[in-house]
Amino acid sequence: MPSVISTDVLIVGAGVAGLWLNARLRRQGFSTVLVESASLGGGQTVKSQGIIHGGAKYALHGALTGASEAIADMPRRWREALAGDGELDLSGVRLLSEAHYLWSPGTLAGNLTSFFASKAVRGRVDQVKGEQLPPALQDKRFKGKVYRLAELVVDVPSLVQRLADLAGDGLLAGQIIEPLLEAGVLVGLRVDGREIRAQRIVLSAGAGTAQLLETLNLSRPAMQRRPLHMIIAKGPGLKPLYAHCLGGGTKPRITVTTHPATDGNWVWYMGGDIAESEGVHREPAEQIATAQKEIVQLLPWIDLSTTQWATLRVDRAEPLQTGLTRPDHAFLAEEGRLLVGWPTKLALAPDFADRVIAALQRDGIQPQAHQPLPALPQPPMGVPAWEQLLP
Ligand SMILES: Cc1cc2nc3c(=O)[nH]c(=O)nc-3n(C[C@H](O)[C@H](O)[C@H](O)COP(=O)(O)OP(=O)(O)OC[C@H]3O[C@@H](n4cnc5c(N)ncnc54)[C@H](O)[C@@H]3O)c2cc1C
Repeated sequence: MPSVISTDVLIVGAGVAGLWLNARLRRQGFSTVLVESASLGGGQTVKSQGIIHGGAKYALHGALTGASEAIADMPRRWREALAGDGELDLSGVRLLSEAHYLWSPGTLAGNLTSFFASKAVRGRVDQVKGEQLPPALQDKRFKGKVYRLAELVVDVPSLVQRLADLAGDGLLAGQIIEPLLEAGVLVGLRVDGREIRAQRIVLSAGAGTAQLLETLNLSRPAMQRRPLHMIIAKGPGLKPLYAHCLGGGTKPRITVTTHPATDGNWVWYMGGDIAESEGVHREPAEQIATAQKEIVQLLPWIDLSTTQWATLRVDRAEPLQTGLTRPDHAFLAEEGRLLVGWPTKLALAPDFADRVIAALQRDGIQPQAHQPLPALPQPPMGVPAWEQLLP
C-alpha cells in the first residue's frame, strides 16, 4: 500500500512552469511534490524555441501597453538566474545565444514607429552590420537590415535538467490523478492510489490541464490549443541563426533558432507565421517544401544539399483568449485550495511563479513541518524532437 504523503504545495505538470515554481518554492523553504505523467519538460517546453522574449515580437503589433509590459523584464530576470545570482541558481544552463535578431530582408515592414517607442525594445535595439551579423547571414549577397534584440536563447534541455536537479526528492512519476476530498473540500490528490495532502494544489499541466479540471469536476478556467506545424532541418551546411525574419505582416514570416544535435550538427528549428495558419493545413512534405523555398529565396548561399528534414505538429496550450489579447503575462486562476494556470510562454515561467507565490502570501500559507518524502518513482527527461525525428 503506497504511503500517505503530506506536503505544502502539490504541483501537477513538470514543464517549465511547474519546474520553475517548484524550485522557487523549495528555495523559500516550502516542501513540494511535483507530479509528471510523461517526461520532464517533454510537453511544450522542450518543443519550444527557447527564446526569452522581452516582448519585441508583440511590440511589432504596437500591442504592448503600460502594465501589460511585464514581459519586458523577463530577459533581465533570466540573465540573473543564468549568472547564478537571481531568483534561482541556473548557472551551468547552456545559453545558445546572447541575443535574438530581427531581420528585415527588404525594407522594414509593420508598425515600426510604435515598435521602436515600446518599452519592450526602447534602448535595447541596435542595428548590426558586417561581422556583427549572425554567422548564417554573413555573406556578401546578404541584403536587408538586422537589429539585435536584448533577448536570450536558452538550451531548453539543459534548463530542464537543472530545474530537475533543483527539484531534489520532490519529483513523482504518476499517471492516474483523482481528487482527495474531505467533507466535499479538495484537500489533496490521489496519485496512482497514493494520497497526497497539501495546503495548496497547483495545476500546471499545459495541454493536460483541461482533462485534469474535468477530473476535478471543474469547467473553468477554459483553455485553448493553438496548433503549430514546425519545421526541423539538420545538416553540416547550417550555421547558427537566431532571428525573426519580417514579412509584410505584423507576425514574423519565419522565426529560426539553432540547436545542437547530439551528433555534432546544428539543427534549424523554424516557426513563426510559416508554422501557423496555412502551415497547419499543409501536409509535412508540402510544409518542408515551403520552408526550403523560403530559405533558398532568403539565404541562397546556405548549402542545403545534405540537410535532413522533418516537421513537428505541436499545440500551444493557453487560457482561452479573445482574438486580440497578447500573451504578455502568465495566467493564474484560483478555486479554493486549487490554483490553475499557464505561463503562456517559456519566458514567463518566472511571472507564473510570482503569481502563485503572491497568492500563497496573501493567504498566509507558510512552510510547515512534514515527514521526509519516501523514495518516489521518477519521471524520465524529455527529449528534443530532432533527436527522435532525425536521429
Ligand atoms: C513550437 C513552440 C515553440 C515555442 N517557442 C517559445 C519560445 O521561443 N519562447 C517562449 O517563451 N515560449 C515558447 N513557446 C511556449 C512555451 O513552450 C510554453 O508556453 C511553455 O513551455 C509552457 O510550459 P508549461 O509548463 O505550462 O507546459 P508544458 O511544457 O506543456 O508542461 C506540462 C507538463 O504537464 C504534464 N502533464 C499533462 N497532463 C498531466 C497529468 N494529468 N498529470 C501529470 N502531468 C501532466 C505534461 O506531460 C507536461 O510535461 C513555444 C511553444 C511551442 C509549442
